[in-house]
Amino acid sequence: KEELNIIQGALELRSKTVEDVLTHLNDCFMLASDAILDFYTMSDVMQSGYTRIPVFENERSNIVDILFVKDLAFVDPDDCTPLKTITQFYKHPLHYVFNDTKLDAVLEQFKKGKSHLAIVQRVNNEGEGDPFYEVMGIVTLEDVIEEIIKSEIVDE
Ligand code: ADP
Repeated sequence: KEELNIIQGALELRSKTVEDVLTHLNDCFMLASDAILDFYTMSDVMQSGYTRIPVFENERSNIVDILFVKDLAFVDPDDCTPLKTITQFYKHPLHYVFNDTKLDAVLEQFKKGKSHLAIVQRVNNEGEGDPFYEVMGIVTLEDVIEEIIKSEIVDE
């Protein structure tokens, strides 16, 4: 019976989209690209508890890098290292998905790819101007897996 529930959860991945499970940009813990890795910033990062932190330039929707907490292993807060020094050293690639991507497709990407976090974009064609890509938030492997587990709990 339990297996059946998990299968059902897995099947639902075919109908649900990234937009149903993403973490909105406003709720994301991020750093500005010109941040300095002093004691204050580093303890902020540690306290956030997240392992991957998007880095934005000028506005939060403009994600230019991603910082892994493990990148900070050799950073001494007393050195007040600019965040840019670290991100330019590691240069973790950014991965993007569209808001209407089905969760099973995202899961496949996460399984193949090196990163388990993707930036969620949508095409904004409201208003007068040309359509443009708009960042909505982030989605991780955990968001997808949670979707399977949730349906398991509800069904019971
Ligand atoms: P972590 O490894 O940092 O705990 P997970 O991939 O396990 O992150 O994701 C846990 C939840 O936290 C997911 O809902 C994900 O969308 C969200 N999340 C991941 N990184 C961040 C972040 N930097 N700011 C806000 N939410 C995040």
